[in-house]
Amino acid sequence: MIAPRANNLRCGLDVGGTQIKAVLVDSNDEIVSEFSSPSQAHLGPEKVRDSLLSLLETIYHSGYKFNAVGIGCAGSVDSEKGIVRNSPNFSNWKDINLRLWIEEATDKSVIVDNDANCAALAEWKLGKGRGFKNVVLLTLGTGIGGGLILNNGIYRGSTGTGGELGHFSIYSDGVPCPCGNIGCFERYCSASALKTRVPEFSAKDIFKNVTIHDKCQIAVKEFIRNLQTGLVSLANIFDPDIILLGGAVSEGLVPYISEIREVVKGRCFPAIGAHLKVDFTHFSNNSGAVGAALLHAID
Ligand SMILES: [Zn+2]
Repeated sequence: MIAPRANNLRCGLDVGGTQIKAVLVDSNDEIVSEFSSPSQAHLGPEKVRDSLLSLLETIYHSGYKFNAVGIGCAGSVDSEKGIVRNSPNFSNWKDINLRLWIEEATDKSVIVDNDANCAALAEWKLGKGRGFKNVVLLTLGTGIGGGLILNNGIYRGSTGTGGELGHFSIYSDGVPCPCGNIGCFERYCSASALKTRVPEFSAKDIFKNVTIHDKCQIAVKEFIRNLQTGLVSLANIFDPDIILLGGAVSEGLVPYISEIREVVKGRCFPAIGAHLKVDFTHFSNNSGAVGAALLHAID
């Protein structure tokens, strides 16, 4: 029998297309430990359930006794019911009741939310959004994830699908998007957008080769111009205290952040621009799991 390492923990899970990340958070919102395992998404929903349950078992048997579970998942999530309607990471998922899966097996209280909402929550509670009332978060990865903290709470919209910040149009005659819209922000400011323009390089290498290859330079210039356009619109719509950029692609933007900040602040409404901050996220790739753990509030 292993003695408990800590009690009153909350476990956050970020269920991705290839990996499940888990974070344990104590009653002071301190991160206690982290775990991960393959999600096996390509083998179907039941396999993902098995992966989730076996990871929770591993955590429990390592001596971390959690009493609540939060789960973040990309896509359209009905947080009230704990159902993932559909997800870009799991093409074969339709109305998957993630909450029921985990509650039945563990007898713990479970909350499910969109992964970018979880990331925004993590930044607002523990990261760069701390102390602010309105936070806009973008995760620039294969696509764009969006999370909103408005008036000190997660904004989910009327159907739970609010805050899909990668899917407003920046070109009315632009590239069709799988979401059904045309010219979505995501089609121009994501890793897949960069890859479309320079197929011979990864998104990371396109940023690295910007001074060597003209094609990379043009692609990055376009990317930054489109990003600025999107950020100005987001700033004017939400009048946030801070816009936070995260996700793997944001790492390539480090040399350009001053320029991006200056252009965005200069182009939005003067009162908004004077107040607005634009920065990178504090958490890198575990923000979804950290935020998922924080879905269960400690009173
Ligand atoms: Zn779209």
